[in-house]
Amino acid sequence: MQIPFSRPSLGEHEAEAVARAVRENRIGGNGEICRRVEALLAQLTGSPHALLTPSATQAMDVAFYAFGIGPGDEVLMPSFAFVSQANAILARGARPVFCEIDPQTLNMCPIDAAARITPRTRMIMPVHYAGVACDLDAFEDLARRKDLILFEDAAQCIGSRHRGRALGTIGDAGCYSFHETKNVVAGEGGCLFLRDDRLAAAAEIIREKGTNRGAFMRGEIDRYTWVGPGGSYVISDLLAALLEAQLERLEEITRERTRIWNIYHAGLEALEKDGLLVRPFIPSYAEHNAHIYAFRARTRGLRAHLLSGLATRGIRATLHFQPLHTAPYALERLGTPSRLRETDAAAETLVRLPLYRDLSPAQAEAIVENVVELCEE
Ligand SMILES: *Cc1c(COP(=O)(O)O)cnc(C)c1O
Repeated sequence: MQIPFSRPSLGEHEAEAVARAVRENRIGGNGEICRRVEALLAQLTGSPHALLTPSATQAMDVAFYAFGIGPGDEVLMPSFAFVSQANAILARGARPVFCEIDPQTLNMCPIDAAARITPRTRMIMPVHYAGVACDLDAFEDLARRKDLILFEDAAQCIGSRHRGRALGTIGDAGCYSFHETKNVVAGEGGCLFLRDDRLAAAAEIIREKGTNRGAFMRGEIDRYTWVGPGGSYVISDLLAALLEAQLERLEEITRERTRIWNIYHAGLEALEKDGLLVRPFIPSYAEHNAHIYAFRARTRGLRAHLLSGLATRGIRATLHFQPLHTAPYALERLGTPSRLRETDAAAETLVRLPLYRDLSPAQAEAIVENVVELCEE
């Protein structure tokens, strides 16, 4: 048995979509296929503005530019997160302020975040870990009361909702990732969601090297020119074609992933009862997309035993985020951090099981059996 941790589900449907784009000479950036995919994403999520970007990381760069985040500003984010947010914040000369997570959901804790607000705080940037909504009611309330921008890192969240609303579209801004490890892939790709029309217009210009080429491409003006600062944050129609083919399969992909997620969840229930591990917790407000199945082993020793035991049996289970507050670059730029007990504990015991569209239910059952055996050794 050789089971990778993750594998994109690509076939003839995707190959044909890319071949068609080539045959039709659609390879440029921000072209007709990109606009079609943006319309599809807007419709799927109910967001007024969906802008494709080369990655979720760069969606954040564009947004920070548009919001005018700069030196002296502080942005609240979880330490249990990917590096993209912290890089985007530092790149603008602002300072990331690392917050603690809720041990049950592994999402940013609103109470801890509230305690870290200072007069310099401009933005609050929770992650929806594993495609499971964070406590958005609390963060929306906090953002409103303290007049902060709310940015949702919904990189893992296509198809996920909070009380019926699509994640990434609830705050002032949000993003999806279409990295090859996510549910729906473009190889590399992302999408920035914005609520405000003026900000979206500014982001469009930033994305197109500081020009109004976006309006030109839609036929709204007859030539385009340099109107502000910017970079190149558009994607090629070739990748948009691949993404469009994947989006057409969103329901099927989510359904099959959910089937695997449920097999794991049912299969590990007895181990949770025996106190050997803690299964993921889905709050009642969250409808998730089965992006990750992550449980916490009772001890670090058990986690190490599981990861190596599964690897020996050809099963690639992995750990996840290494807390950012103690990463070498954070220590260099931000100095010695205070302790984040829940974050450290989660990072030390987390196990993610393989989860992808084409993993079969039989394979998932076999993985459960292996976890059970290893736990009982
Ligand atoms: C994948 C991921 C990112 C980065 O996405 P890219 O498209 O690779 O830039 C950011 N945040 C989280 C939570 C992610 O899972």
